[in-house]
Amino acid sequence: MEVKTVRTNWADRELNQNTHIIIIGNKCIIVDAGASLEDIMPIIGNREVEAILITHAHYDHIWHIESYDTTFSCPIYMHEKADIFLKNPEYNLSKYFGANKTFNLNNVHYIKGKENLNIAGVNIQPIYTPGHSEDSMCYLFEDGTLFSGDTIFARAVGRTDLITGNPNRLIASLGLLMKLDFNEIYTGHLRSTNKQEQEKNVSVWIRYIKANLLKKHFDYNK
Ligand SMILES: [Zn+2]
Repeated sequence: MEVKTVRTNWADRELNQNTHIIIIGNKCIIVDAGASLEDIMPIIGNREVEAILITHAHYDHIWHIESYDTTFSCPIYMHEKADIFLKNPEYNLSKYFGANKTFNLNNVHYIKGKENLNIAGVNIQPIYTPGHSEDSMCYLFEDGTLFSGDTIFARAVGRTDLITGNPNRLIASLGLLMKLDFNEIYTGHLRSTNKQEQEKNVSVWIRYIKANLLKKHFDYNK
C-alpha cells in the first residue's frame, strides 16, 4: 500500500486541500475529491479506482466529486449526514465562496452506524468523528494508516465555528480516535503526521477548546 497526495493549489483561497490516492497493486482508492481529474490521473494511470472515501462534504473536499463519479463509476462512501451538505450550499460552504454549488451523485453509499469496508482486499474501518462538521469521518486502514480529514492536523485540530461544528463533539471524537491503534496520519490539509506527534498535541488542544468554551460561557456580552 502506497499513499500519494495531490495538494490543490487554490492560491486565491488559501485552501490547499489534500486529495490522497492509495495504491494497492493495480487498484486504488481515493480519499476526498478536492483535486481535479487532470491532477490525479497521472498517478492513477490505468489502475482501477475501487472506491472514493469522503471525509466530509465541505466544498474544498468534494469540489471535483461529480467528475470522479462519472469517470470511475465506483462507490462513493460518506456519512449519511453528508446528504444535506451535498444539497445545500450553506452547509457545503460553497455559498461563502460565491459558487452556490450543489452536488448530484449517482454512486453514493451513505455510511450509517458501524460498517466495516473491504476494498481492494484491504479492511477499512470508517470512524464517525463529528465536531468539525456533523458528517466528519476518519478512515482507518488495516495497516494502521489513518485518514483524518479535518478532524486532526499536524499540530492542530479542526475548527468548530462553521455550520454544524461543535466543540464538545470534537473533544469526544478526539478522545475516541486517540484510543485507537494507528501510526501515520494523512490529513485534509497541511502535512501528514503520526500518532506519536499527535499524542503530545491533542491533549493541549482539548484543554484549549475547553478553556475557550469556559470563556464564552462567562462572557455574557458575546
Ligand atoms: Zn472542512
